[in-house]
Amino acid sequence: MEATDHLRASLHAAIALANAFGSPARQGRPAVPPDAAAVDAVLRLTTNRPPVVDPGGYAGGAKTLYDALGNLPDVDRAVELVNELLRDTKAAPQLTREIGAPWHLHFGSPDDATGWLAEFATAVAMLLGSDEAARIRRCAAARCDDLFLDATRNGNQRFCSTACQNRAKVAAHRARVRSS
Ligand SMILES: [Zn+2]
Repeated sequence: MEATDHLRASLHAAIALANAFGSPARQGRPAVPPDAAAVDAVLRLTTNRPPVVDPGGYAGGAKTLYDALGNLPDVDRAVELVNELLRDTKAAPQLTREIGAPWHLHFGSPDDATGWLAEFATAVAMLLGSDEAARIRRCAAARCDDLFLDATRNGNQRFCSTACQNRAKVAAHRARVRSS
């Protein structure tokens, strides 16, 4: 594992959590409040893969992350929101390990949700301090507000998923048929 892999995984989880709680519409459907299984799926994107906890504890911080990332390229506003979240969660990274396992960064906190939000805020903070902030995009498909990190070399990814890409293709095809 590369030194940066841990925070990279946390960044993907942060974006997924932000979408789960903050996105008004997802892949063509109005969003539903995420349940424990949805939060569990997000935490499984991290390298630690912790067991699921109280999903409600994530809502506030996740919405802040969505607002911060969704406002890009306004980096100044995003920084303001993420700095606030870092203060609120009292992000205090410590290296910890289970016996026999490798050291990893852990964001100690009174409860699990706050600790994870601290880690996600840190991952987003590192993104905002880099050129990669420009790679955050909002899905171009209709009825989808999901954010994603453009993974293409030339920075031309437009959709959050192949599902949205296919929906957009079908919609464009229907529009062509109608107008011909
Ligand atoms: Zn989408």
